[in-house]
Amino acid sequence: MTIREDAVPDFTHVPCRMPTSDAARAEVLANPGFGTSFSDHMVTIEWKEERGWHDAKVGPRQPIMLDPAAAVLHYAQEIFEGLKVYKQVDGSTALFRPDANAARFNRSAARLAMPELPEALFVKAIEQLVNVDIDWVPSLEGGSLYLRPFLIATEPFLGVRPARQYKFIVIASPAGNYFKSGAPAISVWVSDYARAAAGGTGAAKCGGNYAASLVPQGEAIARGHDQVVFLDAAEQRWIEELGGMNLFFVFADGTMLTPALTGTILAGITRESLLTLAREEGLNVVEGRYGIDKWREDALSGKLVETFACGTAAVVTAVGHVAGRDGEFAVGAGMPGPVTERLKARLVAIQRGEAIDRHAWVHRIAGPRSQ
Ligand SMILES: *Cc1c(COP(=O)(O)O)cnc(C)c1O
Repeated sequence: MTIREDAVPDFTHVPCRMPTSDAARAEVLANPGFGTSFSDHMVTIEWKEERGWHDAKVGPRQPIMLDPAAAVLHYAQEIFEGLKVYKQVDGSTALFRPDANAARFNRSAARLAMPELPEALFVKAIEQLVNVDIDWVPSLEGGSLYLRPFLIATEPFLGVRPARQYKFIVIASPAGNYFKSGAPAISVWVSDYARAAAGGTGAAKCGGNYAASLVPQGEAIARGHDQVVFLDAAEQRWIEELGGMNLFFVFADGTMLTPALTGTILAGITRESLLTLAREEGLNVVEGRYGIDKWREDALSGKLVETFACGTAAVVTAVGHVAGRDGEFAVGAGMPGPVTERLKARLVAIQRGEAIDRHAWVHRIAGPRSQ
């Protein structure tokens, strides 16, 4: 069956024949970690140039067959998303802004010369998977079911041009707190490597960006830090973001700054949500440029009082220490500051259904019976 335009078709359901036992699942959910355990099912949807989207399926999670010439394996035509299902205080489950992930997925697809997926189909695919694997949503504090939608070029062809055949997949992984150390603030290393350059793929959520960040991230770890900070590629001066999180700077005068989306920075949904919440709080919110030299100077003078990073995986994480070629400095007391804590608490309360959802960000999962 072919999926045309915004038509959202029925999915074929093939249940997993040997689902994880209740006891084994309970053990995983008690201490899920991040990205190491997976639910029983997956969604797959195929795309071919002559047919468009077709064969939407919810089936057992299993290895996929790929021709060794599949384009993704050679030229990295791959994009992905990351979003979470949260247990709500009333016992139901909900996604946070899945429409924003769907829209960003298509922006990434356009940059990587891949076909766009109707937004309603992206969201429906996720709902279908959550419904069959609803028992995999952890109820523990800070827990969630992390969803990983991704698209790969499957056409066997070694010439360099956009592939004519793709596979969309969604898998699910129960998640606890992302930074396992439980440290209240992270330490970051300012890298000499660049993550993205003007005109490149920095604004697209593609695997290739992450491949290029592994050496700098490894360097940060080897030096005893948690995460890497990337500066702009042209001047090695302007702060861009971490390997997978956006950065915010809070000043003593009530200003909050985050690097503007210049095309080299990933437009985080957490970033955008926090900008909205901060404006509501009356902070003077600025999207602009901030240099590494100023970061140090303002941290030392006390003008800068907090720095935090944000993203779906770790939500909001305070940055307590910064190190780089030119030495080290602490931000504030090296601990999460009040603005970081307040914004995080407000966002988490909305995600968990504890606070009023003024912006219609919370997307309830209808449940299998009502479909
Ligand atoms: C996914 C990602 C983010 C965070 O985006 P969210 O939508 O908030 O999860 C930030 N930077 C990079 C490079 C990313 O890939």
